[in-house]
Amino acid sequence: MKTRIFWTFDLCKNEALKYKLKKDFRQNSPNAYAAAIKHKWLNKFNWLNSKSINLNQSKIYYVYKYEFINYKTIYIGLTLRIKERAQQHLQSTSPIYKFSKIYNISIPSMDILKSNLTQKEAQYYEDYYVKYYKDLGYTLLNKGKTGIGIGSVGGMHCKWTKPKCFDEAKKYQTRGEFFTKCPSAYKVVLKNNWFKDMPWFIKRRHNVLETLFMNTKLNKEWNYEKNKAANEYKVSEKVWWKCSKCNYEWLTSTNKRLNDRGCPRCAQKSRVKKFSKPIDMLEVKTNKILKTFNSISEAESYINSKNIYKVLNGTRKKAGGFLWQYHKEA
Ligand SMILES: [Zn+2]
Repeated sequence: MKTRIFWTFDLCKNEALKYKLKKDFRQNSPNAYAAAIKHKWLNKFNWLNSKSINLNQSKIYYVYKYEFINYKTIYIGLTLRIKERAQQHLQSTSPIYKFSKIYNISIPSMDILKSNLTQKEAQYYEDYYVKYYKDLGYTLLNKGKTGIGIGSVGGMHCKWTKPKCFDEAKKYQTRGEFFTKCPSAYKVVLKNNWFKDMPWFIKRRHNVLETLFMNTKLNKEWNYEKNKAANEYKVSEKVWWKCSKCNYEWLTSTNKRLNDRGCPRCAQKSRVKKFSKPIDMLEVKTNKILKTFNSISEAESYINSKNIYKVLNGTRKKAGGFLWQYHKEA
């Protein structure tokens, strides 16, 4: 049974204090909001006006983290709507959600690192924490760059030099362990082909999880809706993929995906495009080129006739009242 709260002025005010904008109050506490409207309390509380509010100066930003401690992996973010942002991170498009799916683990709770910040301060601290955790050897799930002003901070320099990588790698018995405990160094080692100089690792094939992790293209196309967690499959097993461009879904093994041309539907489309030659539309009397099309089908839909190919192969003189020829490159 749901308890019905009787919204007194004080209760309502306390609830309203959780929000800076009326809009947020309405969305997150609809019952208290309704009571405030009914008793005409709404304007007795302090509100920031979402139109006149100066977002640059108001100290309303948060910097937060989601930390996968056992995986040394972290997401650092900034927001002024902490509740909404937390909701967003539970959705399938979020890198946090994806990471938890890949490893079949639960999403850690959001930790607020700093609050009451102006936008600039928030950008500063976001960048600060990104660098701080990178220096600790963390893998960042953040996609965009951080820092004051948009994209003004490069700062992506790699801290995994060759000697540091070797020092790190020596701590582990297997590549799998190395990968799990320090994916950032693992990536660098793999990319530079240094494993051949690390005889303490027994050579073996990647598993699905590693493959996804290393290959951003495949990672993007892993079908989260249809597959179980990635660590439950072998590379030879057929799994579902979903094209990031056209959403086409298909089944094939992770092994095969490493050398294929990607989405079968998109590959088909690009083949058709490759073989379609551009053609010219000419005026009958003057033989002047009026227009050039990328393909026969494009021209056909333009004049609404299906006979252009007949003109091109010589079995017909005109189509749609025009002459047609394959376009000659100048
Ligand atoms: Zn596709």
